[in-house]
Amino acid sequence: MEWETVIGLEIHAQLATRSKIFSGSSTAYGAEPNTQANLIDLGYPGVLPVLNAEAVRLAAKFGLAIGATVSRRSIFARKNYFYPDLPKGYQISQYELPIVEQGSLTIRLDDGTEKVIGITRAHLEEDAGKSLHENLGDATGIDLNRAGTPLLEIVSEPDMRSAREAATYMRAIHQLVRYLDICDGNMQEGSFRCDANVSVRPSGEAKLGTRAELKNLNSFRFIEKAIEYEIERQIDIIEGGGKVVQETRLYDSDRDETRSMRSKEEAHDYRYFPDPDLLPVELDDAFIKEVEAELPELPWIKAQRFAEEFGLRRDDIDILTASRATADYFEAVAATLGDDPKLAANWVVGELSGALNRDGLEIEASRVPPHALGELLQRIKDGTISGKIAKEVFEAMWNGEGTADEIIENKGLKQITDRDAIEQLVDVTLSTSAEQVQQYRDGNQKVLGFFVGQVMKASQGKANPKQVNEILRQKLSDEAE
Ligand code: ADP
Ligand code: MG
Repeated sequence: MEWETVIGLEIHAQLATRSKIFSGSSTAYGAEPNTQANLIDLGYPGVLPVLNAEAVRLAAKFGLAIGATVSRRSIFARKNYFYPDLPKGYQISQYELPIVEQGSLTIRLDDGTEKVIGITRAHLEEDAGKSLHENLGDATGIDLNRAGTPLLEIVSEPDMRSAREAATYMRAIHQLVRYLDICDGNMQEGSFRCDANVSVRPSGEAKLGTRAELKNLNSFRFIEKAIEYEIERQIDIIEGGGKVVQETRLYDSDRDETRSMRSKEEAHDYRYFPDPDLLPVELDDAFIKEVEAELPELPWIKAQRFAEEFGLRRDDIDILTASRATADYFEAVAATLGDDPKLAANWVVGELSGALNRDGLEIEASRVPPHALGELLQRIKDGTISGKIAKEVFEAMWNGEGTADEIIENKGLKQITDRDAIEQLVDVTLSTSAEQVQQYRDGNQKVLGFFVGQVMKASQGKANPKQVNEILRQKLSDEAE
């Protein structure tokens, strides 16, 4: 029997506001426990929440970016449940009238084809606190700093058909919220996390299978592994004659398996009702226009422009447009070069990315700024150094040894283009390689590479490779006569 996997994601993006969604407490990460929660965050009797306008603006920005309807009227609801880190006894969320409805995002699959993923809704809600278990013996600690932090919950249609597709979609949403500057995307700090709903059904079956919800996946690698495991688990159950039960499961990354947490509650278990303390959110056209004007160039539009304007390969474009900072860096280097975007792209994708990865730095913190890299590449273009020597110069720049020109000068790395000097090196090489010269004469053209290597070595990599090739060919054909 062939099985088809069906996946829908609920992504929680923490909105990048300075204060909480209904109070003036700070949202800064990492403070001492319970120093950033006030009476409103804790839901004390008699306090009144006041909606943070910035959270509304950021949610609207997201809605416009995914071509969704930004509701002119949305309302907040109480979602009631009992949990130690939710002292109010309810979470303020949106249920019937969310702020964003019916959008979509196009993702690019591994085989290069595109797929449209429907986004059912995105609603505003507050985060809960956090239960702490480490170093507390049998006790549980409660840190309420996170209570009341604004979240945008982005709910997809069940449109994904593999773990890989789900991870690709999650990456695309991550990239988008960072482009929009509405979420810092920090997954270690929990600013971006995801619940995956997974089910299987016989291929060709129209009805959806029973799903399990995998909670709090906070890495692209884990979401893929957790879903892979879950698919196998469900198929095994059904093929063994059993039935999948609807439940919430937790992924254990140490053991690479999912475990049951609780049976899945239904919407009616939460006794949703409109929050009487909060007014409906009403947005007018002027506001929407204003937010629309703030939208940056979106990732897919930038990617298309990079293809048309610079003629770059799709793989390179994906890397260069991964973040706005990377794209800006690349464009700044390309601008200093004027007419060689491919050279700029190769270096940003190659040497620069390598150095950043090695040192664990974001591109904003690059030790070589774009104009400095541009100067280095200029020296390749004007023939002062070869591409190979440029890598050596780049390393020195990265280590803070100076500008490209200073390093080329100080280390004596200027390319040798003097014909006589190169001829001398070629003569020495040929006179000490009688055996290879004979092979070349006998028709083995491949030996040329050996000669080039020897001459380059003798020049410590500084001879102009093009000239070396020319002179070698010429001398060898002279000798053959
Ligand atoms: P809930 O209110 O329980 O969270 P929703 O109907 O809002 O459930 O759906 C939550 C997510 O689960 C959505 O992303 C949706 O696409 C997905 N989903 C719903 N049913 C299935 C299913 N049978 N298999 C996989 N995903 C599903
Ligand atoms: Mg849900």
